[in-house]
Amino acid sequence: MFTPEDARFDRQHIWHPYTSMQDPLPCYPVVAAHGFQLQLADGRELVDGMSSWWAAIHGYNHPRLNRALTQQMAQMSHVMFGGITHPAAVALCRQLVTMTPAALECVFLADSGSVAVEVSMKMALQYWLGRGETRQQFLTLKRGYHGDTFAAMSVCDPENSMHSLWRGYLPEHHFAEAPACGFDDEWQSQDFDVFARLIEQHQQQLAAVILEPIVQGAGGMRFYHPRYLQQVREACDRYGLLLIADEIATGFGRTGRLFACEHADITPDILCVGKALTGGMMTLAATLTTREVADTISRSAAGCFMHGPTFMGNPLACAVAVESLTLLAEGEWQRQVAAIERQLRAELLPLRSAPQVADVRVLGAIGVVETHRAVNMAALQQFFVEQGVWIRPFGRLIYLMPPYIITPQALSKLVQAIGAALEHSSHFAD
Ligand SMILES: *Cc1c(COP(=O)(O)O)cnc(C)c1O
Repeated sequence: MFTPEDARFDRQHIWHPYTSMQDPLPCYPVVAAHGFQLQLADGRELVDGMSSWWAAIHGYNHPRLNRALTQQMAQMSHVMFGGITHPAAVALCRQLVTMTPAALECVFLADSGSVAVEVSMKMALQYWLGRGETRQQFLTLKRGYHGDTFAAMSVCDPENSMHSLWRGYLPEHHFAEAPACGFDDEWQSQDFDVFARLIEQHQQQLAAVILEPIVQGAGGMRFYHPRYLQQVREACDRYGLLLIADEIATGFGRTGRLFACEHADITPDILCVGKALTGGMMTLAATLTTREVADTISRSAAGCFMHGPTFMGNPLACAVAVESLTLLAEGEWQRQVAAIERQLRAELLPLRSAPQVADVRVLGAIGVVETHRAVNMAALQQFFVEQGVWIRPFGRLIYLMPPYIITPQALSKLVQAIGAALEHSSHFAD
């Protein structure tokens, strides 16, 4: 049930992500979701092209994830993590330590991606304090996205996240140009020049480099060359700096490898995961690091790592994450993501010839259509819903990252809806 009164209340009282309270764009009431489909209040079913922002990789209402949740609920839903531990947290952290590179053996459970990023940056600061130095600057990439809390925002793209609004309040870090060399392009060594110069110049003040490996997500859906990431790793090693890999969007198979760092065969010193960690069922994230970083943090004046959220290690979230990672470990995702990639290459890449289109790119289970003009969000969103699909464009980007369990027919429906949308110039700003 969703009444007109509910819709009115929503418009007048509830903020949605990045919206105005004064003149919000329409919101579509969803009352159920199963498999790769979202069900609207009026009964229409939409094919989901978003996985609820990278998260619902196994699809909605998955019986095994549901069972993990209800079984945990029958035991206990939550208990504090200070001075207490529990089987679900231990099982989850054991899985995380096993599935990530061998050097990453210490896990901090956070309650959202942004918090995991805050934790990673705080780890880097405390690492240097433990070494008797105060280092507070970070080097990152333009066009990056790391979350909406303040430390995370300070390393997001300065224009996209409107750093000008927070001048004097937001710490100022160093930004290299976003990599220009695409994932499939031939490597051009000068692509790394600006980064190389900045890291050399600021090596004494830098605590760490933080970046999204291979895929820059919310900052532009760009796929960059693995050589770039390898050179970042080499440069961090040369100057003794920590490398923080934010795999909150890319982790758990989305790019065709379990973690995007694998494309470049590198291991970060600190790794952030989130989004798909619970298969999109609950909010949970984690920050992993090496024994050496963890030990050095303990040598800082605080003597411990200074973080501990109220809902840290929430048992419901941990239990469902354990089941989500167990599903991944069974390995079906590799075939599924490869099939999605093949189909997107066959069906989405031809949209390159459409006049509205500037570029089309595909990596793993991610397909991106970049248009010349910004989309008219309200008009395009309505068109997609009328076509029976859920695709949420932004700026000049119309992109797909469907649940891994999507069928070829449903994926074709998503691609066809994008193709049809490109034919109407009213879907784009002037
Ligand atoms: C979504 C995202 C975050 C923030 O995660 P939240 O759970 O929204 O706080 C951080 N980094 C990257 C790369 C993301 O895609």
